[in-house]
Amino acid sequence: MISKIRNNLWQVGGQGFTDMSDAGVFLVRFGDKAALIDSGSGRQIDRLKSNINRCLEPGVKLEYLLLTHCHYDHVAGASAIRDEYGCLIVAHALDAVYLETGQDRVTGAQWHCGSLTPFNIDIKLTGPQSDIVVGNGIITAIHSPGHSPGSLVFTTRIDNELILFGQDVHGPLHSDLLSDEKQYLESLARLLELDADVLLESHFGVIEPKEEVRAFIEYWKSPIGVSHYAVLYAPDDWDDRRKKPDKDETPD
Ligand SMILES: [Zn+2]
Ligand SMILES: [Zn+2]
Repeated sequence: MISKIRNNLWQVGGQGFTDMSDAGVFLVRFGDKAALIDSGSGRQIDRLKSNINRCLEPGVKLEYLLLTHCHYDHVAGASAIRDEYGCLIVAHALDAVYLETGQDRVTGAQWHCGSLTPFNIDIKLTGPQSDIVVGNGIITAIHSPGHSPGSLVFTTRIDNELILFGQDVHGPLHSDLLSDEKQYLESLARLLELDADVLLESHFGVIEPKEEVRAFIEYWKSPIGVSHYAVLYAPDDWDDRRKKPDKDETPD
């Protein structure tokens, strides 16, 4: 299954699209170049490739694979995508280190009963913001730490609408993932300032219009959202903060 979100913007992977362990995978095209945002777990890589091929006409080159962060459900298929399309893999330097060493705890591979095969990152971003030229378009990468140290969101404009590839806006936060609650809340505040028209969330899908995007981000920034993810967050003072852990919570 593929889903056309806008002209030249599709969801090609994720639960219901490829493997149930996959985070959302989005494809955006500008002229004769395209970029993929995240690659899923790689467990249904043939289905993902076939979905990508259905969207891209012959002659359109997949130039970049942009990784939002280092978690297994978002990245484990990355090197297979690079092998197939010859694209460059982009990630933030603070998360790249865990991908290049195949760190199973920080990447959440253990939570998915998997093991991450290390792979190299072609372009490591540093600093708060970078523009990436893709064909006749621009994708902006914004460092948004909290869920992981090197979490990125990506924005781009399509037909005058601001599209936000927001990754795991909902967290969770967990010490295994080196999450940081203060950074997470600051990042969410910056996402609100973007005032995006469409939010593509890795596990909640397509959120629009603008008012719904705002409400969604505000929910996770609020004490209600915080209490939801706090059950997964294990800081040093966890015992003092713990009320009733919910064993059914499944991290991403
Ligand atoms: Zn994640
Ligand atoms: Zn995720």
